Amino acid sequence: MTHSNAPSAGSVGPLLVTGTIGIDTVETPSARADRVLGGSAAYFAAAASRLAPVRLVGVVGDDWPAQHRALLEGLHGVDLRGLETRAGGKTFAWGGKYLLNMNERETLFTELGVVADAPPQVPAAFADSGLLFLGNTHPAVQAGLLAQVPRAKLAVADTMDLWINVAHDELVHLLSKVDGIVLNDSEAAHLTGVRNAVSAGRRILGYGPTFAVVKKGEHGAVLVHRDGVAVVPAFPAEESMVVDPTGAGDTFAGGFMAHLARTGRTDFEALQQALSWGTVMASFTISAFSLEGVARATEADLARRYAEFARHARV
Ligand code: AMP
Repeated sequence: MTHSNAPSAGSVGPLLVTGTIGIDTVETPSARADRVLGGSAAYFAAAASRLAPVRLVGVVGDDWPAQHRALLEGLHGVDLRGLETRAGGKTFAWGGKYLLNMNERETLFTELGVVADAPPQVPAAFADSGLLFLGNTHPAVQAGLLAQVPRAKLAVADTMDLWINVAHDELVHLLSKVDGIVLNDSEAAHLTGVRNAVSAGRRILGYGPTFAVVKKGEHGAVLVHRDGVAVVPAFPAEESMVVDPTGAGDTFAGGFMAHLARTGRTDFEALQQALSWGTVMASFTISAFSLEGVARATEADLARRYAEFARHARV
């Protein structure tokens, strides 16, 4: 998709994502994908780039497959000047297995590789980024990356159970520095000790951010904001449409943040509308392995899916 028809980026400035570039191995009850392109930043960028230009900051090892590089380079609108290749290092690799209902996932292995070493540097050319998404990684690393983008008007972080367990205090510190957090309902419950998604979100605002997006998988998402609460259902996907849920969360975040980038707005109403673009992007991701679903959808497919979702969700 070209961005010529998209509204020009408004007052918030360019969008930057940091996170993993991964080599994923995924098993579902009916299929398997070996060593395909994945990682939080790759998924995010693939989705975001469908709506607005996106800058990527990440690190790979020199074992990173040439086909993966070609795939990322082939995504229109993704600026890869912040992608560092570390000599002698191994690329982040992750394996996951889905259970029969495709909602529950077991992590089979996580090999941090270069991600465990020094975090990547944000290039000087990216320092003027106004919108920042801190993809899932150690919260202390996220805080270090945040400090490298001092002009960010809106910084949003992702997290996961692992960090709530092993880096709780660093995560709470990070929450005092960011504007928003995106996490799923079990993580929100784990972090706050509160099961109810709205109450958990409210509790998270107590740590400092302006908003929390609590995702509930096939049941949609809740936005808890200082100015109000909004809900969005998931796209009602038939069983046959769900091939691989990997990356749904990251592409949700990519659609969400890119909508803000292209409208130049970060108020409650814009965030509420951004939830729908996140949902639409996630619905494409789950329809294929790796980045394929979100990357191969045509502009017409995106518009059609958005309209269909708006019809389904009308109240
Ligand atoms: P999602 O399905 O949205 O949770 O994202 C799955 C993606 O996150 C996969 O492509 C993995 O490579 C990546 N991933 C899995 N575990 C981690 C981790 N501990 N840190 C960063 N990225 C991860």
